[in-house]
Amino acid sequence: MTTHDVEIAIVGAGFSGLGAAIRLAQDDFTDYLILDRGADFGGTWRDNTYPGAACDVPSHLYSYSFAQNPDWTRSYSHQPEIHRYINDVAAAHDIAANTWFHTEVTKATWDEATETWLLDITGDGDVDQVRARVLVGAVGPLCEPNLPDIDGIESFDGQLVHSARWDNDYDFTGKRVAVIGTGASAIQIVPQLAKTVGHLDVYQRTAPWIIPRTERPYLPVENWAFKNIPGLQNLIRGTIYTANESVAAGMTYAPTALKPVEALCRANIFRGIRDRGLREQVTPTFAVGCKRILKSNEWYPTLARDNVDLVTDRIARITSNAVITADGTEHPVDAIVVATGFHVTDSPVFDTIHGVGGTSLADTWSAGGMKGYKGTFIHGFPNMALLIGPSTGLGHTSMVYMIESQLNYLLDYLRKTRKAGITRTEVTKDAQERYSAALQKKLKNSVWVNGGCASWYQDEHGNITALWPGFTFNFRNATRRFDIAAYAVTTGTLPAAEATAISDAVIASA
Ligand code: NAP
Repeated sequence: MTTHDVEIAIVGAGFSGLGAAIRLAQDDFTDYLILDRGADFGGTWRDNTYPGAACDVPSHLYSYSFAQNPDWTRSYSHQPEIHRYINDVAAAHDIAANTWFHTEVTKATWDEATETWLLDITGDGDVDQVRARVLVGAVGPLCEPNLPDIDGIESFDGQLVHSARWDNDYDFTGKRVAVIGTGASAIQIVPQLAKTVGHLDVYQRTAPWIIPRTERPYLPVENWAFKNIPGLQNLIRGTIYTANESVAAGMTYAPTALKPVEALCRANIFRGIRDRGLREQVTPTFAVGCKRILKSNEWYPTLARDNVDLVTDRIARITSNAVITADGTEHPVDAIVVATGFHVTDSPVFDTIHGVGGTSLADTWSAGGMKGYKGTFIHGFPNMALLIGPSTGLGHTSMVYMIESQLNYLLDYLRKTRKAGITRTEVTKDAQERYSAALQKKLKNSVWVNGGCASWYQDEHGNITALWPGFTFNFRNATRRFDIAAYAVTTGTLPAAEATAISDAVIASA
């Protein structure tokens, strides 16, 4: 066995992993290594190459605050441009030098004797294990595709593709195609496919709420202004941020305040579809905001096209060449696109991380659902920080803002523990329980609990464990400083209580 030693191992080279690396290097934590199974930086923005893939958070906010981009070509960016941006930022900070691509972490195990993480890896090189003092999990919640458990799907002989594993070599032109799902991915894929396929069946289980998308190309003069007028980009970021936070207020505290948003969605249906029956089929039956509010100008006109059918009957099974609905109708198809989302609260990644006593993250969370402290640290998993961990997801604004908040917390943890000579840091069960209970209490009046929908924000017990409730600036404030009192720490060979006292003294004097 060949082992590579490093102080900090980061798993994942997407927005969060790359952001972590940049912040670490800036703060003199240069002994780090990123491991990623892909070929370059980008994470979800590298993997989702389906036609029409784009972001529904405006470009100026969906970017790092420390790497603003005056050259965005559109008000909302599309996947190729975001992928390019992430790789440009990585190149500007020379992060590839500390990154192993084509390297998959198959297991991460906490080794109590050495107070380190041991990562089993498979990759191009001859190293098969990485040992790190600190593990940063940066794989994100939207990395493991959810393949629908539909009877007979494995017997389908045609092209079967998940939205996040697109096959760009397959030519859909003139084909009979089924798209299963009507979430954020499907509403971008369907309008593009409809332009080239022979016939398209769209299988809708739950109609989503969709507002118009105000996307437009930037004029050269605007790009000039972004580049040359000091503070302009910050002003735009701030304006978008503030507008989005007002939606958070409605979602968390007063769902009825979202009625104007619902009116906007209803007008979008009215404008896009003439047929009354179809309008009824696409009108959601749950409160707006309960699931992610989608953005599209093309979805409804596409459903009204002659070569597109909306199918709302339940799918009973799939045969070698057709989708059979519950009413017995056979819908022959050449290709099936499953735009059915991701394993978020039940990710297979959780089976591969083993903390104190060898207990996996999956087992730790099996009874009570995903729990953590400030979305980052988990009791039973010392020296490990998860980026976009439990209760950090958003439905209303930029995840990059949440990631940067977590990076502040991560860096303060590293600085303080380095200064105090702390070798082992574990959030206490009590702190984690109190934090999780407070979040659940906050959710009580929210649209996610009371809105009458099922979504990936919920776990199998119906608890909302993937989502941050409330304003994101509250999360920013909560993660501003590493609050060591919530942690049990060890300094070398000293017992925990003594170490905490020493650490507190060191930190107090810092
Ligand atoms: P999603 O929002 O979870 O949507 C999955 C869709 O598949 C839903 O319509 C769901 O129906 C349907 N579905 C799942 N299992 C099914 C089954 N067995 N039979 C029939 N239908 C089934 O997944 P997604 O569209 O990939 O989006 C996931 C997240 O990725 C988004 O919420 C967003 O955070 C992110 N994303 C963002 C963008 C963007 O910025 N524009 C684009 C893509 C993705 P039900 O609603 O009935 O469950």
